[in-house]
Amino acid sequence: MKITLHGAAGEVTGSAYLLETARARVLVDFGMFQGGGNTDAKNVLPLGLDPKRLDAVLLTHAHLDHCGRLPLLTKAGYQGGIYATGATRDLAGLILRDSAKVQSYDVERKNRKRERAGKPLLEPLYNANEVDQTMSRFRDVEFDRSFQVGEGITARYTIAGHMLGSASIKLTVQEKGKTRIVVFSGDIGPMHLAIIRGAVPFKHADLVFMESTYGDRDNKPLKETLAEFRGIIQDAVKRRARILVPAFAVGRTQQILYHLDELFCASKLKPFPVFLDSPMAIEATNIYRRHPDLFDDEAKAWRRGCALTRKQAHVKPTPTAQDSMKLNDVSGPCLIMAGSGMCTAGRILHHFKHGLWQPDTVVMIVGYQGEGTLGRQLVDGAKSVKIFGEKIAVKAHIHTLNGFSAHAGQSALMNWFGSLAPSKPKVVLTHGEARGREPLAELIRKRHGLKPILPAQGDVIKL
Ligand SMILES: [Zn+2]
Ligand SMILES: [Zn+2]
Repeated sequence: MKITLHGAAGEVTGSAYLLETARARVLVDFGMFQGGGNTDAKNVLPLGLDPKRLDAVLLTHAHLDHCGRLPLLTKAGYQGGIYATGATRDLAGLILRDSAKVQSYDVERKNRKRERAGKPLLEPLYNANEVDQTMSRFRDVEFDRSFQVGEGITARYTIAGHMLGSASIKLTVQEKGKTRIVVFSGDIGPMHLAIIRGAVPFKHADLVFMESTYGDRDNKPLKETLAEFRGIIQDAVKRRARILVPAFAVGRTQQILYHLDELFCASKLKPFPVFLDSPMAIEATNIYRRHPDLFDDEAKAWRRGCALTRKQAHVKPTPTAQDSMKLNDVSGPCLIMAGSGMCTAGRILHHFKHGLWQPDTVVMIVGYQGEGTLGRQLVDGAKSVKIFGEKIAVKAHIHTLNGFSAHAGQSALMNWFGSLAPSKPKVVLTHGEARGREPLAELIRKRHGLKPILPAQGDVIKL
């Protein structure tokens, strides 16, 4: 068999693996390339990938860098199933529809300029109808059950602990009387992540494709981060501050809601209004609530024991722009969660314009802020920032919490791999930049005597 890397080779986005035998062709993930550079040129159907000849598409989880190119398959005539857990299906639908919306907005904006310049007009990769068509190909998968995906190939999903419904996938491939096991890690979660269960690694593989996003370091322990979180909230309540939290709609928002609930339930802290100021975050939170079967024991006990979690009366969704604008008049203590996660667009900008210059505002950064983003400027201590072309002084208290990551750090990655290591698999490190995958490769070499492959885009691995 051969596996071609159509993404996430030496970088963290665009995950896509094509496995081919003489009898079958299976694609694992088909994610979008993100984050500037020449991503437009890369977000295409690669040569050598004919959707009509695929037997199955398997999806590890709903993040755009894993599912974002799926509509290109159905647009090009793919008629087979897209296999994913029910939660992944729900979240992928939400994320792909949002992606179509963002693309149409971007293309419209660019086309206004291009038209004036006499340049040919651009088209989005896909629209909402094409996403619907893709969603109709989804087939539900349960964890820990094997099923056939092509002639001589069965698949089995196990919990990856990275986001609701996220999986690692094992393919058992029969070829010329031999059985080989290929494991795709997907994105692996940290040791402890709120709400969902931790990763359950596979125990045997002949070949493993493993993510290496944070292969170089351990994230700050969640316990320390939660102590900081508690301190910031308590202090803000004392000062009746308004707390602004830029957050990604899926995952981080629900984590923060959960940790707030913990605070309200376990300590004597009186609940204050928490505004969910993002239609997408509201929908994602509803999807989380629909899948309590995927919760860990703590979250399950919490649901039973804490009236707040069941009702969450303090959580106030503000779906419309008018609802959002009314928040300007709400006095503290309160907390407003809005996108975008890196403060590059979205409603958080309006809240920043209204609140950054006021000393009684608290900004809590709970996620990674990419280079060149407004969020990064705040983390780096900017005295003023530009929002909608206007200079805004930064008088608010800015706090950065680094321990909420949904990715395994180095120790958790090694722990996950430790379960596969005794079977001495061929290791291919993907979904990581040089900074992440090189130290991880070195560690695997030292600890297990294996020599991981660090592939490039388009490379083919044979077994
Ligand atoms: Zn992910
Ligand atoms: Zn990813």
